[in-house]
Formats: sequence, structure tokens, C-alpha cells
Amino acid sequence: MLFKTITKENFRNMIEGIMENNEVIGPKSRDRDTKGAKIYRFLKLNSFDELEMDYTRSYSSPKNYFLPFKEDLATYDLRDTGWEQEIRYTIHPRIIVGMRACDINALLKLDQVMLKSQYPNPYYSARRRNTVIIGLDHEPLEDCFCRSMNTDTAFHGFDLFMTDIGEKYFVAINSDTGYMILNRFDSCEVGEEDQLLYKEVRGRIESKFKTQVDITIVPELMDLEFESDVWKRWGDKCLSCGSCAMVCPTCYCYGIEEDIDLNFDKATKRRFLYSCNLLDFATVAGGHNFRPEAHIRLKYRYYHQFRGFVEAFNQSLCVGCNRCGKACLAGISPKAVIDDLIGTEKR
Ligand code: SF4
Ligand code: SF4
Repeated sequence: MLFKTITKENFRNMIEGIMENNEVIGPKSRDRDTKGAKIYRFLKLNSFDELEMDYTRSYSSPKNYFLPFKEDLATYDLRDTGWEQEIRYTIHPRIIVGMRACDINALLKLDQVMLKSQYPNPYYSARRRNTVIIGLDHEPLEDCFCRSMNTDTAFHGFDLFMTDIGEKYFVAINSDTGYMILNRFDSCEVGEEDQLLYKEVRGRIESKFKTQVDITIVPELMDLEFESDVWKRWGDKCLSCGSCAMVCPTCYCYGIEEDIDLNFDKATKRRFLYSCNLLDFATVAGGHNFRPEAHIRLKYRYYHQFRGFVEAFNQSLCVGCNRCGKACLAGISPKAVIDDLIGTEKR
């Protein structure tokens, strides 16, 4: 990997330069919560000043720029005697600025399923290949447990990754595109002092993690505790609202709907993100529901995150962002559930 530095002023010039011809997406605050704290989202930027580089955590993840909540997979023209199918998965190149290491790692996990599986997803692939990612380091929030999930740093999956070292950003370059973008603007070689500052900042970030989740034996424990009343205890609180999956950077369950015009001229096949916690997730034709109880659905969401994905890809699906814990109105979080499973939860 190559490293350079760029002053904050030149970084501004860089983003403004990119914005002239490209769509740039970054963290912006749009609202405040009941305690007055800003709520951030990744949104299209109209000017550099809208970019909030000191943001904490976006409410939902930038995943939705790759897996939208709803997307048309195909449209059909049913006029005359035959039918024409149109499929579009071209997108304009765009840049996402300010992605956290955990969210970059989340994309790498989604790549395993969407790009590298037996049936790659061409819609996801088009978005992934046409999106430049500029990552950004940050100090962990009180409830971040990405360090426990080994996703607090990123080594792949981005073009540039920046660490704030005071007057400048220390920039890791991970692709030709990233190198070319940086080279168009005034960047500098890394000096001895920059390197020292970088090490100091990284050390400070690492020392600030407060939340740990011990997942060492969790995959085995999931099998051993399959019938445990831990699932009932937490499942009875679950409202089956699906918010946890909607904000999660790695959940990818979906449904398909077909919409036919009343005059039978046109039809659309649409995919929408779904949640395995929703009541009808496992309902099949004929109306039978294989998972009618909330605690069973909650258990299977945890099984996918911490057991099934480990078996398939040798890693957990969860990246430890705790967005689900924040979004859950019933107070259910991975840390609380896993601690309970291990037997360390304070009740
Ligand atoms: S902490 Fe929750 S929202 Fe974040 S990756 Fe894990 S399961 Fe998804
Ligand atoms: S956000 Fe909480 S209450 Fe809603 S489905 Fe997820 S675990 Fe259940």
C-alpha cells in the first residue's frame, strides 16, 4: 500500500474538484434526536461545506447505495402478442466520502455473497464497480465493538483511506483510481513527523475502545444453546419491527414483488430489502409460516450473523457498529444478547 499526506485545504480543493463532474455522497446531519444530538445520513453533497467530517455514526449505513431499499430488476412491455423485457444496471460513477472502516469491511462481507458466490448480483456489481470509496478513521463511540469483530481497520475495499493527523490527512492509497485522484491535487510524500503523528493517532484510537464482545466461542455456543431460554427472554421483548436489519450494514434479506398495470400493458419486477425479524418472513405459498414466533426469528437473525456466515465464509457477518442496538426500541443489542448467551450479562 502507498501512503501520502494532503493538507485540509487541498482536501477541500480535491472534493470540490471531484464534485464538478461527479456525484459525491458523504455524511450530513439532517435532524436531531430527542437529546439534541445530530442524526447523520450519507446523502448527496451539493457543496463541500455540507460534508461533516467530524460525524459520529450515520443512522443507517451507506450499504443502501449498493443495496437500495427498493429497486426495479426488470420492466416488461406486454403489448401486442409477445413481451419485451428491459433490464438496466448501469450507474453513473460516484464517490462516497467518509466511510468508516467497519462499513468498508461490511461491503467486503457483502462482496462474498453478491460478487463471489455462484450467482453474482449484477445490480450490486455495477454499483460497487462504479463507486470510488474514500474512507475516514475515527475515535470509537462508547458502544462500538468493531475491534472485537476485527473490523476497526480496513486493508481492502477502498480507494483512499484518511486519518486526521491535525493540519493534514494521512492517506492510504489502495487503488489506481485513488492514486490518480490524489495525484491531480497537491499531495505530499509522508515525512518522519507525519508518520509519528499517524502512529500516535492510531494508538489513541485503539486505546479508546470501551465495549468488547467476546465472540471466540460464539459459533459453537450457538449450536450448544440452540434451545436456550436466552432466545425466549430476548425474543419476548422483540417488536418484530425489522429496524435492526434496515440499519445494519450487512443484512441483505430481500423480497420480490411483481407489479402489473391494470390494463396489462406493462409490468415491473421489484426487489425490496426485508428483515428476517418480520412476522411474515418465513410464510410460504398456502399461508404456512415456518417461524411464527418472534424469539425464533430473532434467534435466526443472530444465527446468520454469528454462526451461519462463519461456517460459509470463516468470518462473522456482524461488523460491530451497534446500529441495530441503537435503533431497537426494545433495547436489544448484540452485546447484551451475546453476553447473556455466554453467561456474563448483568440482569
Ligand atoms: S452491530 Fe448490529 S447493525 Fe452492526 S453489523 Fe452487527 S448486527 Fe449489523
Ligand atoms: S429492532 Fe429490536 S424490536 Fe425491532 S425487530 Fe430488531 S430486535 Fe426486534
